[in-house]
Amino acid sequence: MALVNAKEMLTKAKQGHYAVGQFNINNLEWTKAVLLTAQELNSPVILGVSEGAGKYMCGYKTVVGMVNGMLEELNITVPVALHLDHGSYEGAKKCIEAGFSSVMFDGSHYPIDENIAKTKELVGVCNDLNLSIEAEVGSIGGEEDGVVGAGECADPQECKMIADLGVTMLAAGIGNIHGKYPENWAGLSFETLDAIQKLTGDMPLVLHGGTGIPEDMIKKAIDLGVSKINVNTECQLTFAAATREYIEAGKDLQGKGFDPRKLLAPGFEAIKQTVKEKMELFGSVNKA
Ligand SMILES: [Zn+2]
Repeated sequence: MALVNAKEMLTKAKQGHYAVGQFNINNLEWTKAVLLTAQELNSPVILGVSEGAGKYMCGYKTVVGMVNGMLEELNITVPVALHLDHGSYEGAKKCIEAGFSSVMFDGSHYPIDENIAKTKELVGVCNDLNLSIEAEVGSIGGEEDGVVGAGECADPQECKMIADLGVTMLAAGIGNIHGKYPENWAGLSFETLDAIQKLTGDMPLVLHGGTGIPEDMIKKAIDLGVSKINVNTECQLTFAAATREYIEAGKDLQGKGFDPRKLLAPGFEAIKQTVKEKMELFGSVNKA
């Protein structure tokens, strides 16, 4: 199945009270692990690509070529969207040109008027090409590719202004943080989420920083209108732990254990396991 935009899968998720996972990819193993798990669990999935990861993988055209090749050669039939994560205005345009099916324009660091103007222009471009677009209001804490925030909460009125531009999905800070959560984290602000949901109605809401949020909070967020949850750091942590275990056990020194197909296998399996756990938690299994 060819890449799809994320609109239909997220509309269904919002109506069905579950969430679709966005799993960020970094290389071939990552992409293959996420796609195979989605297929095995019959779940829709969004592949996230940050600008940094896109650059690391040679550029957006390489990413599009790799993903399209896998969809065909792995016989992937579940809906898959290829989505730019936290894109700049220029990055969004490049991804649209390269063949992504979905983009996020993160204008949250601009004054709201400028965020609105830039988002509005990209909404027009995406609508013309039948692509989905995610916008962001307010700053989400933590660090992603050097973008640092402070765990802030978005203004629900500003969320409505951006939602009304016709975006497909909306990311809004509700006390969530990218990366590992600090021990003194105050938790998600359900009050803010509830206020945003009431003003934005059917708009699928996006929860960034899905790594390390307790399961009950994830479930409550989904109940309150979150339909897309971004997972990035958690796959990195489980991949690294499994790779460390393999090397610390000296397995790379046994036989042909140095073969990258063997060396990277435990990390690959760890990503698959993490993606499976998240899809089960988010409720997207058998929703393809
Ligand atoms: Zn994010």
